[in-house]
Amino acid sequence: MASEAAPLVKVGGLGDVAGSLPQALRGLRPPFWQGPRLDVRLALPLHRVIKEKVALAEPVADFMLATPAGKQPVKVYLTHAANLPVYLVDGPPIAPDGRVYSADPLLDGEKYIFFSLAALEMTRHLDWKPDIIHANDWHTSAALYALGLRRRQEPFFESMRSLLTIHNLPFMGKDAEPAMAKYGLPRSPENRLPTWARQFPLPLGLQSADRINTVSPGYAKEITTPEFGCGLQDFIKTRQEVLTGILNGLDQVDWDPATDKALASRYDCANLSSKLPNKAALQNEFNLPVEADTPLLVMITRMDQQKGVDVAVNGLRVAADLNWQAIILGSGDPLLETSCRSLEAEFPDRVRAIIQFDVGLSRRMYAGGDILLMPSRYEPCGLAQMIAMRYGTVPLARATGGLRNTILDDPTLATSTGFLFDEAQPEAFADGLRRALYAYPDREVWESIQIRGMEQDFSWEKSAIAYAQLYVQLSGR
Ligand code: ADP
Repeated sequence: MASEAAPLVKVGGLGDVAGSLPQALRGLRPPFWQGPRLDVRLALPLHRVIKEKVALAEPVADFMLATPAGKQPVKVYLTHAANLPVYLVDGPPIAPDGRVYSADPLLDGEKYIFFSLAALEMTRHLDWKPDIIHANDWHTSAALYALGLRRRQEPFFESMRSLLTIHNLPFMGKDAEPAMAKYGLPRSPENRLPTWARQFPLPLGLQSADRINTVSPGYAKEITTPEFGCGLQDFIKTRQEVLTGILNGLDQVDWDPATDKALASRYDCANLSSKLPNKAALQNEFNLPVEADTPLLVMITRMDQQKGVDVAVNGLRVAADLNWQAIILGSGDPLLETSCRSLEAEFPDRVRAIIQFDVGLSRRMYAGGDILLMPSRYEPCGLAQMIAMRYGTVPLARATGGLRNTILDDPTLATSTGFLFDEAQPEAFADGLRRALYAYPDREVWESIQIRGMEQDFSWEKSAIAYAQLYVQLSGR
């Protein structure tokens, strides 16, 4: 169950995961996978964008959802994404304003509590009883809480097990609290949960799930600490035995510098010199001095506190004595956007800030850059660093969450795929940049870092096997 899944609907990283993982799971075969064939199906809300894309046939389920406030009609339609069956759940709360994530948090709360309960109930109306309900983030967590309550009373649900994947802990669905009450989901009596969290969907999902995972092993450890635990760290520690981390994969077909049509020049690790025209093209495009030897730093990001945009901006000021050019692409928080524009105004001959969301440009930047900047305050997994490595662009990142798990920083550089620094502070960022730029002129060393990054296996198959093993353990099959 997910709020979004590509290609039907994608807003952020969750959409990539919920789109790619089920396909990869269905595709698992020997010799890579010796376990049972997995019949994975996806449930999504019938968002307006999906309605506009998909021709709907007759509903495969049509029922009333009982709530303390009365009955709500539910219709479920079946469509397919490649060979993946997708159940599209519709009902009055699903599309009041037509957006995947509404600007009104109360509307969103009701939409996702309704969806969670309707999707769980749907299983009873289909000729299909899943072994495992796999929920993602707060939007579908209420389904696991409800499952925990129902399987004690209703034989149909008794054998179902549950997995909750956390993509982003700080979003707990606090504005869904009134909807939880409205739909008959009681406050939790669990006294190890902080009082404020006892009717929020995500904490209740954490309480009820049989297994929990985050999207990297690093983040799984970090959420048990005060810095990253968002006030739930002590409770999460009580669930540590069922908590693991599984790295997200990358769509390695979509992100491939050998076939990427957006690039001025395509390349792979056997002809890395063909990466160079992309750098010149980018310098030209943004009216920067076309200098092959000046390291070109790129940053492609949501403009959000999480991403440490301020750390990069101030860190570049601290490292102003070094020779570099920087292009920053991103949109979001207006204050951070302004800080990037100010940096450009301060360094007009070497900084460009492009305040947009532009996938084509992001591709040209992954290809044309020398170094990707990713000074995140926290990073559950992170995709940009994986894309950068695949494009032979060396990441400079904060050692946190998935960044720590995907980037190897070896002081001797012999096994490095990038550069890490510890503190989310401009000085630490600048020190990391100094180390990277010190290595950069040695072409042989630099190329070996690039090639090791390009050769990393970030495939979805690898992640899917880890999830499949978890499902098998959980179902006891
Ligand atoms: P998050 O999901 O937290 O935003 P990730 O690193 O996991 O961060 O994924 C971000 C994805 O969004 C990457 O594919 C990145 O290229 C893309 N992206 C972020 N900002 C932009 C932008 N302004 N234009 C185009 N793509 C962007």
